[in-house]
Amino acid sequence: MKEEKLILDGNRVAAAMKEGLVEQIKRLSEKEIVPCLATILVGDDPSSATYVRMKGNACARLGIHSIRVELPSTTTTEELIAKINKLNDDPHVHGILLQHPVPHHIDERAAFEAIRIEKDVDGVTTIGFAQNAFGFADFPSCTPAAIIAILEYYNIPIEGKHAVVIGRSPILGKPVSVMLLNRNATVTICHSKTANLARLVRLGDIVVAAVGKPNFVQGDWIKPGAVVVDAGYNKGNIGDVDYEACLENASAITPVPAGVGPVTIAALLKHTVEAAERFLAKSVL
Ligand code: NAP
Repeated sequence: MKEEKLILDGNRVAAAMKEGLVEQIKRLSEKEIVPCLATILVGDDPSSATYVRMKGNACARLGIHSIRVELPSTTTTEELIAKINKLNDDPHVHGILLQHPVPHHIDERAAFEAIRIEKDVDGVTTIGFAQNAFGFADFPSCTPAAIIAILEYYNIPIEGKHAVVIGRSPILGKPVSVMLLNRNATVTICHSKTANLARLVRLGDIVVAAVGKPNFVQGDWIKPGAVVVDAGYNKGNIGDVDYEACLENASAITPVPAGVGPVTIAALLKHTVEAAERFLAKSVL
């Protein structure tokens, strides 16, 4: 008999997460607080503009206010930081998201660091990263949070499993690795200098692809029965995993689109609502 494959439906996970937020938003509105996310887009990269628009639309659908800051590609690091500081000081703004990547001449790290920790809803600051590594972050990076949310929603065991993460970026590969480690997985982190990549991936019970290369992970790299999470998103709605080929061996897999992407947006909304709740709790103290 052919083994059933579990398609990890990101839209379903996202819908459940958003449903849970409705009551929280209602309770905040009774206290005259509307959660508010400020998104900052620097330059005119069309994909970044699309991501920011999607995030704004998702906010609107749930009754979360969003402010869209659009800055020209000539913006300096100092100008960007000045803008972030204004948003830091604005009591109506609960979360700040600086869309990555910014133009090359800008010191992106310095700009991320300027975001006040209470408003760092995408876990991009070093303090946010460190809190996540210690396992007590209020707001871990949204895509790693989404990956964990998908595994948890489908009751996929993490403890004791060997997780192989391909990619070590500060917003994705590294934070998801520590989150898996904190849930007692044994974690192997691979990157562009990793030798024998395919051999290592074949050892994974859980494989997370966060590479930024279309169809990069090959079907014969997947151990029979492994769970495959494709965090990649490349031009033309293509993930980092060769989906059809990996489906052969995988027991469960996220599709692209409708896998990690919608859950990442839901995580951002959740973090923004929680930031508003924390703001309220502080202001009544
Ligand atoms: P990134 O900053 O470019 O990092 C890519 C990582 O992949 C790096 O650590 C790099 O290694 C590694 N890598 C590159 N080539 C490799 C190779 N041949 N073998 C093994 N590792 C290799 O990308 P990112 O921002 O983490 O994003 C990764 C993917 O996730 C992209 O497809 C992006 O579009 C997607 N993404 C999706 C969402 C979502 O909401 N679904 C959000 C963010 C990102 P080195 O460190 O050695 O360079």
